[in-house]
Amino acid sequence: MNNVTINEIQRFSFDNSNVRGERVLLNDAYQEIIKRKAYPLSLEKLLGEFVAAIALLRDIVKIDGVLSIQAKGNGFLSTLMTECDEHQNLRGIAQWDESQEVPESISLKEVLEGGYLAITIQPRNGQRYQGIVEIIGDTLSECLEQYFSQSEQLPSRVWLAANGAQCGGLFLQRLPEEQAKEGDEDAWERLTHLASTVKEEELLGLETSELLHRLYHEEEVRLYDVKTMQFGCSCSRQRTLEAVMSLGSAEIRELLIEQGSVKADCQFCAEKYEFSENDLADFLGDQAKTH
Ligand SMILES: [Zn+2]
Repeated sequence: MNNVTINEIQRFSFDNSNVRGERVLLNDAYQEIIKRKAYPLSLEKLLGEFVAAIALLRDIVKIDGVLSIQAKGNGFLSTLMTECDEHQNLRGIAQWDESQEVPESISLKEVLEGGYLAITIQPRNGQRYQGIVEIIGDTLSECLEQYFSQSEQLPSRVWLAANGAQCGGLFLQRLPEEQAKEGDEDAWERLTHLASTVKEEELLGLETSELLHRLYHEEEVRLYDVKTMQFGCSCSRQRTLEAVMSLGSAEIRELLIEQGSVKADCQFCAEKYEFSENDLADFLGDQAKTH
């Protein structure tokens, strides 16, 4: 499957139970994100888990707008964030102290040292909502499980994996009792127990129908439509100009004198933006034209 493009998320449910699930598997979309910087493999893997996580979250939280997961900390990793919009455009980035040697295997808790996760829901029209999760577990999966139990108050389990080529995830959630179907009291325990036997190579190597067959061949699994995801950056000349303007007129004037223009590269997609004195004239007022 290594040569096949597969950037998919698919929902599933189990007949006769109140458990639903999601499975995501990405290769190209993930590779587009990690190739933007020279990431050490351990960071590629951690960023991959974040990418798989935002893809799952995207399909669970149904809003028109942008969802993001951002990790902030005081360790050698300063920022790690992924974002996905309603058209399944994914982007992500990690920033770390490049003077330090990155260990081959890293735990979220260690690299963030007292940090936290911020999960932000920004609807196109409406109020921004942010949920903060303290990083108490070692893994992103544990943090997300905690987030779901806080925000949706529904028992949820998450499995994530990434290897620098693919990233993938599996999500199970027990729906509220009123949606429960008759008769299968042990479904949640049984289905999560079976899912916890999933191996990294299965999560990253098997198509969804194969994976679910391997885990649940004795269950009645119902698969829903596949949705495709892709790398996509929401930067624009206008948004970058706004970021440049936030530097303030004194600093902008200095840059114009030193460099003749103001250059700004998008950190997510490496798109280069350049603003001339003319582009900034309205902002700076008439003085800029005569400096
Ligand atoms: Zn961009």
